[in-house]
Amino acid sequence: MIAQYLALKAESEGSLLFYRMGDFFELFFDDAKTAASCLDIALTARGEHEGEPIPMCGVPIHAAEAYLARLIRAGHRVAIAEQTESPSEAKKRGSKSVVNRAIVRVVTAGTLTEEALLDSRSANWLVAVSKVGERFGIAAADVSTGRFELSSVAPAALDSELARLAAAEIVACEPLDGIAADLRKAGFDSVSAEKRLRERFAVATLDGFGRFDRAALAAAGGLLAYLEEVARESLPFLRPPLALAPSDHMMIDSATRESLELSLSSAGTRSGSLLAAVDRTVTGAGARLLAADLGAPLLDRVRIEARLDLVAALEGDSGFRDSVRRQLKALPDIGRALGRLASGRGGPRDLGQLRDGLNEARRLHDRLAIAPDRPPLLDELLPCLIGHGELVDLLERALVPSPPIDSAQGGYIAEGYDAALDSLRLAGGEGRRAIAALEARYRQQTGIAVLKIRHNAVLGYHIEVPAKHADRLMSADSGFTHRQTLAGVVRFNAPDLHEQALRVGQAGAHALAAEAAHLEELTEAALEQVEKIAAAADALARIDVAAGLAERAAEGGWARPSFDDGACFEVEGGRHPVVEDSLRASGSRFVANDCALSEAERLWLVTGPNMGGKSTFLRQNALIAVLAQAGSFVPASRARLGLVDRLFSRVGASDNLARGRSTFMVEMVETAAILAQATPSSFVILDEVGRGTSTYDGLAIAWAVVEAIHDRNRCRCLFATHYHELTRLAERLDGLSLHHVRAREWKSELVFLHEVAKGAADRSYGLAVAKLAGLPPPVLARARAILAKLEEGRAATGGIAAGLDDLPLFAAAAQQEEAEPDPLAAALAEVDADSLTPREALELVYRLKRIEAELG
Ligand code: ADP
Ligand code: MG
Repeated sequence: MIAQYLALKAESEGSLLFYRMGDFFELFFDDAKTAASCLDIALTARGEHEGEPIPMCGVPIHAAEAYLARLIRAGHRVAIAEQTESPSEAKKRGSKSVVNRAIVRVVTAGTLTEEALLDSRSANWLVAVSKVGERFGIAAADVSTGRFELSSVAPAALDSELARLAAAEIVACEPLDGIAADLRKAGFDSVSAEKRLRERFAVATLDGFGRFDRAALAAAGGLLAYLEEVARESLPFLRPPLALAPSDHMMIDSATRESLELSLSSAGTRSGSLLAAVDRTVTGAGARLLAADLGAPLLDRVRIEARLDLVAALEGDSGFRDSVRRQLKALPDIGRALGRLASGRGGPRDLGQLRDGLNEARRLHDRLAIAPDRPPLLDELLPCLIGHGELVDLLERALVPSPPIDSAQGGYIAEGYDAALDSLRLAGGEGRRAIAALEARYRQQTGIAVLKIRHNAVLGYHIEVPAKHADRLMSADSGFTHRQTLAGVVRFNAPDLHEQALRVGQAGAHALAAEAAHLEELTEAALEQVEKIAAAADALARIDVAAGLAERAAEGGWARPSFDDGACFEVEGGRHPVVEDSLRASGSRFVANDCALSEAERLWLVTGPNMGGKSTFLRQNALIAVLAQAGSFVPASRARLGLVDRLFSRVGASDNLARGRSTFMVEMVETAAILAQATPSSFVILDEVGRGTSTYDGLAIAWAVVEAIHDRNRCRCLFATHYHELTRLAERLDGLSLHHVRAREWKSELVFLHEVAKGAADRSYGLAVAKLAGLPPPVLARARAILAKLEEGRAATGGIAAGLDDLPLFAAAAQQEEAEPDPLAAALAEVDADSLTPREALELVYRLKRIEAELG
């Protein structure tokens, strides 16, 4: 047995091995130690290996899912080795034979389908990343619903795409910078990948699915190979691949997502995030789609307006909205039920969910189809909700009202669906009745009133009498045969009982087999409609998202944004949805603020005291851009926005200590990325950048960054700073204007008004904030004296920024530096023309074209 175990363990490389023994999965050796401590279960020992006892622990089969969930969450992968024959089959091969076992599946975080192991409100992405030339291919699959997306990106966009997906598991063909991934080689090549895809989806060409470049194909190949490796025979569910262009949605890198707390708060929880503050969906599929929408705001005005039209239609009519949401609430998660059925891990309840879900979908269709002034998106979705009548009818006839999750006990096929099954059940029922009748007869016959017929797994049906009555049944001619003597009772069999028990048993076994055959047919019938059912699930999710956004908008008095071709950003009465919620919870009011950026006034420098509301103001505007382009109303009384192609948010290092890296370095790396990537259509918020280092360094960096953003990137930008000196830039940069958050000292107490007003803050109120924070009076007095001295010095010398006005402007200064190397020229300079093969020459041309395209 140990030899078999070790062979399987070797095959399961890098996974814990769950080794099936009877009703348990056992773990041995180091696996046992790891699992015992992770699961907090007893570590025991068994037998010996190389003179040492073998550490062992086990989990019962019936509770295995819960233990699996904990192991997966703790970052492990688990290979499941099942018995592939029964012990009696093994015995036939020889009395000492070990039951054959094989790894039937490797459970990994990215390939789960079990309801118990998944969060119903989050997608569960497995991502494969390939590298072909200068492009990264990304293949993403959520096998719980079959969603499968392919794209390819330039290196600079890899981080934002992976951040968007927030994968449960990443495999890659080579190490990725700063991203944890499992390295694999198998399958990552575009030629074999294309073949694999064609075979998998039974098509002669992939053209019908979209255009995929070699990087995207290679990633798809790596993904499929990995799925084959972990899923073994039961290949997971994949719908045909969708070609995704990263340029379809707003680019938001991981640092920005973190700092804006889009889907997770800084504490790593869902609550406190934008997603949680917005989410009013009532289905798991709706919640998953909303998360995807907020993670990838659109760039296409037509599509954004289409989503907004649907939200508006539902927002305007609360009675209609309520009834739609009530209906949605009753929906089972048909997308995931379908995923389980398609991967061979489904059961009767999944079919029941399809029946109920598709039935509800039709009713919802009828409800929506009579709505007046239907928006075009709704008209597009409605046809997906119907056309499932035949399948629903079949499932309604075939299944009991609430079928069990597991098929093992039977009882899920409805009466009247199959006459043969009914008569088997009848026979079983008659047998059981006959057995009940036998009990009365045996009592009479023996005169033992307490005689009982019982059933257990070992003896089956048997007769039981208390020990003191047993003698009467023991005699050879009593017609009873002794089976078992226990402390208080003795058990017997009898020919009539045996016969009836056989009848019950046979009928039961045949009925189970008949039900299993029906389950298979019904599953097949459902899977013939796989794409149609998946489309219905998608349409329901889209309606739920729109209804949820409408509910949120109505709740918060949000406004429908409008869009503009220019680079404007006009928000009136803007609020931060998360801060507003938490203030409301504590009984305070949020002060709404306006923002008005335009090409002519594209950079706002926001100053003012700590705690004055600068960070909140910056973020609320970034969030408004995300919400608007995701197709949501926004927390403002009016918003008119030019589309944002890339969104950046950076927070000065000391605000961000929790991230535990060399924070100033991180701050600079992230700031550099903005300067390299922000375009005139981008929106950037910079919050106290430069604060992570000494005053002089920090001011110098902040100063230069503001100049570069203003002159070079020319994007819309909100820049919060405590460097009062930066306000001098307003005189020199014509697209920059000054704003401050208002505060007032009243009876020597500092009062924050949280109002954003024009002009620079008159003073920094640092000492007032310190007082508010409870610094002891002697320390405050001392600080006041020092400040007076410093200010005296500043008056005399002009302060730390003295003389900066004489520096040449950024644009002029930048030209003095060595001219930026031209990437095309650089690529050409590397080429040794004589040594090129024709093929390499062609590839070179492609590469040059790519560089040119990126230079735009
Ligand atoms: P700063 O960045 O200027 O230090 P923050 O934006 O972090 O200030 O805000 C500090 C606190 O002030 C917030 O936690 C919030 O409670 C409150 N606050 C900020 N903006 C507003 C507002 N517009 N209305 C009401 N309270 C606000
Ligand atoms: Mg702040």
